Amino acid sequence: MDATVEVVETEDVGTNTVAVTISTPEEFTAEPGQFVRLAATIDGEEYARFYTLSSPSVTDTFEVTVGIDPEESGPFSEFLATLEPGTTLEMSGPFGDQYYEGESRAVVLAGGPGVGPAVAIAERALSAGNEAAVVYRYEGSPAHGTRLARLRERGATVRVTDAPLDTPVAEVLTGTEGEQLFVFGFDSFVDLATQAVESSGGSLDGAKVENFG
Ligand SMILES: Cc1cc2nc3c(=O)[nH]c(=O)nc-3n(C[C@H](O)[C@H](O)[C@H](O)COP(=O)(O)OP(=O)(O)OC[C@H]3O[C@@H](n4cnc5c(N)ncnc54)[C@H](O)[C@@H]3O)c2cc1C
Repeated sequence: MDATVEVVETEDVGTNTVAVTISTPEEFTAEPGQFVRLAATIDGEEYARFYTLSSPSVTDTFEVTVGIDPEESGPFSEFLATLEPGTTLEMSGPFGDQYYEGESRAVVLAGGPGVGPAVAIAERALSAGNEAAVVYRYEGSPAHGTRLARLRERGATVRVTDAPLDTPVAEVLTGTEGEQLFVFGFDSFVDLATQAVESSGGSLDGAKVENFG
């Protein structure tokens, strides 16, 4: 669907990482792991980019988490990070089929802003009485610390690292029936995650992978 949506709130959830809460248009629904396309005109130029849900569900609002890479990002992520409540954006979606579908154990490998869908999926899995594990690789400093800490308290396995992924990935992959592997992040992270899964004897066959580009 296409709709004009309103920004309800923005919150810094880490260095260069902002959670944007958006009003839900009528009849819009989406699952954690799906993404929307947000568009706006900045200095007379039209931009459109994709953002993955970082709320465990859609209520009268939903959330996306935006990472701003000071060296690589362009103007749109910076624009989103500085939005005032009440600003309107054009939205379409939801898109994507790499989302949580009630699997009994969700293992999410996340790089950079991929931490958004990671916390969303883990929260949703725990609320459904299932298991969750998150391996989050950050550069600089980690984001969504409060929600990751809460996930730990609720029984999820959470590994946060800026180092190689092999050890934490080997720790969370159990190979049990019903275990679903998810990978969210930019290209370079997806490569690292793939290597780590393979070096621990696993495979990405059947994994739900969303590459941010
Ligand atoms: C399916 C999908 C889902 C996505 N979900 C998210 C999401 O949930 N959160 C999110 O922040 N972004 C997400 N993205 C990326 C997002 O759409 C934009 O590309 C990003 O915000 C940069 O937009 P920009 O205009 O600022 O920079 P661009 O000019 O589009 O960026 C240029 C390039 O810089 C690099 N880059 C930009 N930002 C980063 C970063 N934070 N870390 C590492 N490299 C970066 C990438 O290689 C990118 O292609 C997603 C992309 C896709 C395709």
